Amino acid sequence: MTNPLLEPHILPPFDRIQAQHVVPAIEMLIEEAESGLATQLRNGDIASWSALVDPIEERDDKLGRAWSPVVHLNAVLNSDELRAAHEAAEQLLTAYHTRFGQNRNVYQAYVALSESAQFASLDPPKRQAIGNAMRDFKLSGVALSGEAKEEYKQIKSQLSTLTTQFANNVLDATNGWFHQAHKEEELAGLPDFLVAGAKQAAGERALTGYVLTLDLPVYFTVMSQAKNQALRKIMYEAYCTRASRCGPTAGQWDNTELIEQIVQLRKRQAELLGYKNYAEVSLASKMAPSPEKVIDFVRDLAVKTRPFADKELAELKAFAHSEFGADHVEAWDLAYYAEQLKLKKYNISQEVLRPYFPLDVVLTGLFRVVGALYGIEVVSASAPTWHQDARYYEIFKDGEKIAGFYLDLYARAKKRSGAWMADCRTRRLRQGALQLPVAFLVCNFNAPVDDKPCLLTHNEVTTLFHEFGHGLHHMLTKMEVAAVSGINGVEWDAVELPSQFMENFCWQAEVLAFLSSHFESKEPLPASMLENMLAAKNFQSAMQMLRQLEFALFDLRLHMEFGGENFAGVQSLLDEVRQSVAVVIPPDFNQFQNSFTHIFSGGYAAGYYSYKWAEVLSADAFSAFEEEGIFNPETGRRFLREILQKGGSEPALELFKKFRGREPSPEPLLRHSGLVA
Ligand code: ZN
Repeated sequence: MTNPLLEPHILPPFDRIQAQHVVPAIEMLIEEAESGLATQLRNGDIASWSALVDPIEERDDKLGRAWSPVVHLNAVLNSDELRAAHEAAEQLLTAYHTRFGQNRNVYQAYVALSESAQFASLDPPKRQAIGNAMRDFKLSGVALSGEAKEEYKQIKSQLSTLTTQFANNVLDATNGWFHQAHKEEELAGLPDFLVAGAKQAAGERALTGYVLTLDLPVYFTVMSQAKNQALRKIMYEAYCTRASRCGPTAGQWDNTELIEQIVQLRKRQAELLGYKNYAEVSLASKMAPSPEKVIDFVRDLAVKTRPFADKELAELKAFAHSEFGADHVEAWDLAYYAEQLKLKKYNISQEVLRPYFPLDVVLTGLFRVVGALYGIEVVSASAPTWHQDARYYEIFKDGEKIAGFYLDLYARAKKRSGAWMADCRTRRLRQGALQLPVAFLVCNFNAPVDDKPCLLTHNEVTTLFHEFGHGLHHMLTKMEVAAVSGINGVEWDAVELPSQFMENFCWQAEVLAFLSSHFESKEPLPASMLENMLAAKNFQSAMQMLRQLEFALFDLRLHMEFGGENFAGVQSLLDEVRQSVAVVIPPDFNQFQNSFTHIFSGGYAAGYYSYKWAEVLSADAFSAFEEEGIFNPETGRRFLREILQKGGSEPALELFKKFRGREPSPEPLLRHSGLVA
């Protein structure tokens, strides 16, 4: 029987990949990679780039080509079988990467190459790739031996298991609860599509009435639109206690212990590598120079933001009092009152805007924006996919195909929530021929109901632009070495630059003119609505900024202070951070940290600050377009040339300076957020 994961397709044969293919394919490719490496080292012909790095890259790319569709399917079409296969294969891969990272013979070969006469003649991307590889060997514990080396291996493997379990618990807790409403009155205030969806969800469960789930689009809409305070409270409590010891599913899928174990293991990992704490390990490969500098950066933004946030909260409280007679604002009322206040001040809401943003119009508009900026053309194409809702596209530049991407945009059961871009194929020279980059772009919008088209809120439009920005970074790269191609090798705290940069275009009147078209009347967004929408852009932006800074500070300090003398526990630290940063303190039962997948199962450990760090870069980059014209082709091509095409081939700070002509400044971010007096 052939294994579709091992066939040399340009694109994964999604119509044939099954859970049972995963482990055998990964086992075989790891074995092939390790025996190939052993042969290379035995023959001793490893003194040049082509003899040492090329074969390693080729084998890892082959492994990546088999693994990327598996990771993807596990996220968008989860099943018990696939989850088990993914978990088993991930264990094998983690062990393989640890063995590779600790292989002193390979490390020494890289060191020798970096000290050889050939090194100076290599082009800069290759030199950068070698430098990164040597750094990563050190971070993988290549210097360890004996017991320490064994312990390090154990830690890596345990972390892989525990972080996956953390994410699984959150997914199960999200799917494992719903609220059944019996009468439509209980859903007062909710938009028709959501009520229809809730009815459908009840039908799917063979229940009567309406079912509200904790899927983000449903949850978010209920919290901001439902008039029924009791309903909001039920939903809030269930959402904020997922995977914890509180709330309606208390103790099921509990992540409390896992948090302790994960952070403890990371702390030990840092000690073994000779660092003070895990935050230092995390920053060793980032743009930010030290944890202390990041804390300064976060605190500085918090101080500048605080007075604006105080004002915002005071306004909200006054509004809640005068309009609803509320003496205080409960956590489950915040989003609702905010939405009502916004409606009153600007006569605008996400739901009012929704009819103006049919998905197909937005996509066409997005492709038009990137066409104007970078001179590329996006064309619909065909390829096997995993679901009838997934689509495939190709990107052309000067008539030549340069990349491809999949879009999977609707929320459904067994699909991870949120939005993301992932690497399917990396641009690189493969035995002399160019392998084109391919991306996965995934969102969780409400699927069309009752033959109405899929309609997006403006927030969702922004999300789509954001993920497409990541996609462009991956797809428009000109690099030919996998290690620095696209987003590979880009410092984590700079990786959000292209994505957050793209969001700016959703706020330009010039763009909104063709990005919007009422799904029935076909009218673009009326001028008065546009004006209100732009005026409302920074509504409560200070409170939002503080929330992000609160998460960032909690994450960083947790990975600096855990287990130390003054550390009083995870919850205490979170409480303390909130006291110092937040203007709104959530109720005691809120266990937000138990579903903080970014840092406990994603790659953001001691790196959540990256969003704000990169936002400084993206806002400042966009300010060049504000100065030179938002569709100025010269500025667009310069951004393409200096940032998007360069991938990770140079430090992000250098690339930024080449584009902007100076160091980054936080001023445009504060200005764009309305946080300047
Ligand atoms: Zn992003």
